[in-house]
Amino acid sequence: MSIESNLDNSARPQGISRREFLKLTSAAAGLLIGYNSAQGADVALSLINGMLIDGTGADATPDGAVIIKNERIVSSGPRKQIKIPTNSTIIDVQGGTILPGFINAHVHAGYTASILKSWAQGGVTTVRDLGALEPYSAELFNIRNALNSNPKCARLVAVGSFINVEGGYPRAYWGGHPVTVNSPEEARQAVNRLIDDGADVIKTAFESGYSFGQSGWPLLSHEQATALVETAHQRGKPVTAHVTSVLDLERALDAGVDEIAHMVIDWLADYLISRMIKAGIRWVPTLELWRGISKKYNAKWYLQSIKNLSFFVEAGGEVVLGTDYAGARDIDFDLGKPITEIELMQKAGMTPMQIIVSATKNGARSCNMESDLGTLEPGKIADILVIDGNPLKDLTNLTKTKLVIKDGNIIE
Ligand SMILES: [Zn+2]
Repeated sequence: MSIESNLDNSARPQGISRREFLKLTSAAAGLLIGYNSAQGADVALSLINGMLIDGTGADATPDGAVIIKNERIVSSGPRKQIKIPTNSTIIDVQGGTILPGFINAHVHAGYTASILKSWAQGGVTTVRDLGALEPYSAELFNIRNALNSNPKCARLVAVGSFINVEGGYPRAYWGGHPVTVNSPEEARQAVNRLIDDGADVIKTAFESGYSFGQSGWPLLSHEQATALVETAHQRGKPVTAHVTSVLDLERALDAGVDEIAHMVIDWLADYLISRMIKAGIRWVPTLELWRGISKKYNAKWYLQSIKNLSFFVEAGGEVVLGTDYAGARDIDFDLGKPITEIELMQKAGMTPMQIIVSATKNGARSCNMESDLGTLEPGKIADILVIDGNPLKDLTNLTKTKLVIKDGNIIE
C-alpha cells in the first residue's frame, strides 16, 4: 500500500511542516509490514483516507480515521474530528475501507500455527475453536497460549472439548472425544475443570440423531444440562450448544444456554424464534457446513437452513458468523476470509452491514471478549482489516485485503 504523496494538506497534523510530514509518512513505508506497536510506545499509528465501518452497526463514515497506540485504539471517527498525534506513523489507505478484524466463531483444527496464520492473512484476526478432534487434555490450552504469543497467528479462543454424557455426540457420530459426565455433580466438576484448565467458553451438544435419520443417541438430562450451564455462568463463561433439530433446540433453550451452534435443518417455528430473541440467545448458523453436507446427502437441509436463518433475521435475532471449518469429513471450507458463509448469509436476507456486525461485534460476544474486541471503539484492542472497495455495495470486496493489523501490529 502506498502511503505518501497523495496525502493532501488536510491530513497533515497541525504543527508539522509539509516536508516533515512527508518524511514521517515515507519512513512509514519501510515500517509497514512488521510495524510493531511495542517498538515505540510513544509512536501512534494513524489510518486515514478510508471509509470507516466500526462494527457497531452504525452507518459507515465516508472519510474516517483510526488512531492506534500501545496495541489499543485511541480514537476513531470522521477524519475532521480526529486529532492525529504529532508523533505518528500515518498510513493513507487510499479510499479503502477500514473495519474491525473478522472473527470466525466456529472452527475446528485451530491448534495449528499454519492454519491460524492463514486465517490472519485473510483478515480473520480471531477464531473460536469449538472442539478439539483429539481426546481432551489440559495441554490444549498451553498450546493455545503458545500460539497466541505468535503475532502472525489469528487469536485462538478455545473450548477445549465438548462436555456430554458417555456415548453422546460427537462420540456417537464421528468419534470425537467429549469430556463425559453422568450426573449433575459431574457436569459441574467438568465445567470447573475445563475453566480451571483455561477454557474460554463451554461447549455442549444436544443431538438426538434425528437429523441424521437416527435416534436414541444419549443426551444430557435436563438436570445435568442446567447444572452445566449454571456452573459456567457462575464462572462468567458462556455456553454454546451444538443442535441440528428443533426438538434438540428446545432442550438447549430449556437448559439456558447462551448460543446455538448450527442452524436447525427442520422447520423452525415462530415461538422458538421469539423465545430465543426474548432470552437474547445468539445463533451461529454454519451455512457453509450445511451446503457442503447437502451436496453429498440431502439438498433439503441446506435450503431449510437458509430459510430458517431468514426467519430468525427478519424477527431481529442476533447472528454470529461461524463456518464449522474442518468440522466435517470430505467437505471443503474457506480458510481465510469466510466468503462462502458471507454469501450464504446474504442469500438468507442479511444486509452487508448485518453480516459485518455478525463477523465482528457479535463474534466478540461469542468469544466472551466484547469489552476488548469486535468494534473500532476507543480502548479496544487494535485488530483491524483494511480492504479495497466498499463492502456495503459488494461483499466480495471483503476478499480484497490490503492490510491486517492485530494487537496494533501490522501483520499482513
Ligand atoms: Zn463444529
